[in-house]
Amino acid sequence: MIRTRIAPSPTGFLHLGTARTALYSWAYARHHGGQFVLRIEDTDVARSTQDSVDQILASMRWLGLDYDEGPVYQMQRLERYQAVVQQLIAQGQAYYCYSTPEELEATREAKRTKGEKTLYDGRWRPAAGKVLPPIPQGVQPVVRFCNPPDGEVTWNDLVKGPITISNREIDDLIIVRQDGIPTYNFAVVVDDWDMRISHVFRGDEHINNTPWQINIFNALGAPLPQFGHCPVILGDDGQKLSKRRGAVSVTAYEDAGYLPEAMLNYLARLGWSHGDEELFSRAQMVAWFDGSHLSKSPAQWDPAKLLWVNAYYIKHASDERLASLVQAQLANRESTLAVPADARLQAICALFKDRCETTVALAAWAAKFYTDVQPDAIEKAQHVTDAVRPALAALADKLSACAWDKVAIGAVIKEVLAAHGFKMPQLAMPVRVLILGTAQTPSLDAVLALCTREQVLARLQTA
Ligand code: GLU
Repeated sequence: MIRTRIAPSPTGFLHLGTARTALYSWAYARHHGGQFVLRIEDTDVARSTQDSVDQILASMRWLGLDYDEGPVYQMQRLERYQAVVQQLIAQGQAYYCYSTPEELEATREAKRTKGEKTLYDGRWRPAAGKVLPPIPQGVQPVVRFCNPPDGEVTWNDLVKGPITISNREIDDLIIVRQDGIPTYNFAVVVDDWDMRISHVFRGDEHINNTPWQINIFNALGAPLPQFGHCPVILGDDGQKLSKRRGAVSVTAYEDAGYLPEAMLNYLARLGWSHGDEELFSRAQMVAWFDGSHLSKSPAQWDPAKLLWVNAYYIKHASDERLASLVQAQLANRESTLAVPADARLQAICALFKDRCETTVALAAWAAKFYTDVQPDAIEKAQHVTDAVRPALAALADKLSACAWDKVAIGAVIKEVLAAHGFKMPQLAMPVRVLILGTAQTPSLDAVLALCTREQVLARLQTA
């Protein structure tokens, strides 16, 4: 049974890198008819917040990454970790360490000055015939794992290929802190074991943790999952994405008018490929994602490409759906605008969706149909001239009496053009500026038909 998981720490929002590994883990499970688990790694009590948990859950929901189990919270599993620690201690594979942070720092400093590696010196590690220091009064111990002193750890990474790290590079890691709470590297192993996780996809910042984890799996006699470490995502300046460099939360993209399928498509393609395909559905991704073709080198976040992908999905989204998204965008604006997601709003979305990269842009167009429009002064001076005013008055006159639909409005426009000897742009540009505040709009008859007659007449009057 293929079982994957995503295990975010609720110490901030679900960032893009984690969303991408969540997507890979989810798609891999779905591809194989397996299961996908959500685990909240909340053992960093000082930095974990309920707000972050809520954001993570909202992001998963928005992206449509449904999980078969979870959310499982590590802080609800402390007894289980305790039991496993006791087992390791009983087996002689973990031990209490009473070194104080000050002592440890002093030893590290001494090693640093000698140019040596600053690994833990094994002072409290039991060994046959070794006499341990007397247990100091009042010091709360940590628990350390007896890492194998030599040999090496090798795994065949699903993304990077074979990786080998020598045990001499790593030391006896702390698995339980002084406060009794397990550390990441220990809890993650117990969880992946208990949850029967078969494949772990995660960011490559965890590569250095993997040898410890493999050694702990082995000490517990637990079967090893397969590991795949995905390279970091770089910002467009080539630096790792960070809060300052474009790394905003997944939910911020929802607010900024992106569609979840665009986000998924873009994230999937960022570090994975299927031939030359750039646009693919969730179902295609599931069909294609077999864990191969994951990129070994860092991907670069490209906001312009994300916009391009989003524009494609907006263009192909149903008008009904767009109307409800635009309705939500309008309601969320500073100047809250309550607009029904009715046939009119749907028709507005239909008319403008081709020219919008986000639902925010679409909402900005829609708002012009429901609020007062202030034409751009320069455009107004340029297009609304004395030469055109008589034709505008004639147009207003005829529009006050015609049937109110695109065909009838189109016929009126043609009559006015003929009567004044104008070509379409000569009349259409000034009318667009007056009606929607800009000379660049879809075809005039369609735009006018979506306004009310009163709006059109009132706005033409401002000529
Ligand atoms: N809590 C870890 C993180 O958010 C999980 C890493 C893992 O998937 O093992 O980076």
